[in-house]
Amino acid sequence: MCCWNIGIVGGGPGGLMTAYQLQKLASVPLRITLLEASGRLGGKILTPQFSTSPVRYEAGAAEFYDYSIFDEDPLKDLIAELGLPIRAMGGPAVVMDNQILANMDDIEAALGPTAAAALLDFDRRAKDQITPLEFYHSDYPEGLHLAPDPRRFDQLLTLVESDDARSYIQNLIHSDLATEPQQTTFTYGLQNYLMNSPAYMHLYGIEGGNQRLVEELAQRIDAEVLLNHPVESIEKQGSSQIRVHSRSGDQPRHDDFDFVVVSLPHNHLGKLAFRGARLQRAIERHLSYYHYPAHYLRITILFDKPFWREAFSDSYWMLDKFGGCCLYDESSREPGSSHGILGWLVGGTAAETMNALTDEELISAALDSLPTFLAHGRKHMVEGRVHRWLSAVNAIPGGIVPRPLDQRHQPEPIEHPQLYLVGDYLFDSTLNGVLDSAEYVAAWLAAQTTDRS
Ligand SMILES: Cc1cc2nc3c(=O)[nH]c(=O)nc-3n(C[C@H](O)[C@H](O)[C@H](O)COP(=O)(O)OP(=O)(O)OC[C@H]3O[C@@H](n4cnc5c(N)ncnc54)[C@H](O)[C@@H]3O)c2cc1C
Repeated sequence: MCCWNIGIVGGGPGGLMTAYQLQKLASVPLRITLLEASGRLGGKILTPQFSTSPVRYEAGAAEFYDYSIFDEDPLKDLIAELGLPIRAMGGPAVVMDNQILANMDDIEAALGPTAAAALLDFDRRAKDQITPLEFYHSDYPEGLHLAPDPRRFDQLLTLVESDDARSYIQNLIHSDLATEPQQTTFTYGLQNYLMNSPAYMHLYGIEGGNQRLVEELAQRIDAEVLLNHPVESIEKQGSSQIRVHSRSGDQPRHDDFDFVVVSLPHNHLGKLAFRGARLQRAIERHLSYYHYPAHYLRITILFDKPFWREAFSDSYWMLDKFGGCCLYDESSREPGSSHGILGWLVGGTAAETMNALTDEELISAALDSLPTFLAHGRKHMVEGRVHRWLSAVNAIPGGIVPRPLDQRHQPEPIEHPQLYLVGDYLFDSTLNGVLDSAEYVAAWLAAQTTDRS
């Protein structure tokens, strides 16, 4: 045999990482074809520019999670391997009732000693519940792990004995959760709270835009890349191949592969037809296990100057608006520039409801949400942009009980062992998670192709 034919469906970070890792690990020749529905690679890593000025902002994934303080950090290693410079990001102050709460003293002064004591108590209990090392290993049932706790996060919040302290916690984590406390688990809620502590995690971005990650990967993969080729259905072909039906404009097309990796987020995977009763049932079971859609809207506004800098110098802070909203100082990614960019990451129910608004209405709502001491800034607005990411992330990534890794990635191993899935929703709904997933499948496939050659 000349080489193994591998099909990868989806040209987001997951598909690109799979191709890249597979190329590195394979010891036999491979012919890789990557089918992407849209006209660009990169999926939810997107660093566009404004139309009035060639100024960049992050419209999708905002930051990378740095776990290198504990042990291996494959994503940070990959970014270094690609030669991309990174910049640390810092936060988060919380703005409540137009007051900036940047530390415990601010909290006590603004919310009172009872709220401050309740917050300290919550913080202690959260840290007792999940240690930094347990946090690091939490996606792997095979490793050091936490006992899954199916209780919903709102049950934990009701134990906080101060309404103000509870609001503070919700404002702090709502954007990261992208859902409401009653729609996620105890464990995921706690993890999203704890990741604000530097003992658990650090944040960074890529200088020149996060999109450089996918651009570098795209340049390095040796694959036939078919843009504007949405995949419509997948089925077994003969005894050992998988047929992928796609479309380019009006033209239907099919390709037969020895192995297929479907690297789509949960919301897109559900739109594909998987033919054959057994495969269809397996995919339905898989989808329902991870069916916890969560939502984002991103509203980004270019201003002629960063009018907030005297009040805030961090990369982001949290607002007590839209159920709790992260406000990124996008312009802090490129120090020295004279413009200012603010990016509102609206999550959860607020994102779902506000999706009914027009772009103009959303931009206006974002400006209205500025604290009173920054309200004068709206006169500095130059241009606003909206990006809608409904159902694009997961409220309980990994499912309520994390599954063994093989089971996550191979939906029907008996009659369709050539079909693999890659996704961030199988881990933690982040880029770290999708890389873990891509690496796992690439290693598995590399072993399969070697064994069978
Ligand atoms: C607003 C927002 C903020 C985020 N912030 C962060 C963050 O700060 N840090 C972090 O780590 N993660 C963040 N994430 C999550 C991160 O973006 C994802 O983990 C990552 O993009 C997942 O990669 P993926 O390839 O699985 O999916 P995607 O990025 O969604 O890529 C999927 C690709 O598949 C293509 N596709 C879809 N259907 C088909 C089809 N039928 N046929 C062929 N191709 C198809 C799509 O066009 C797309 O290119 C954020 C996500 C959002 C929405």
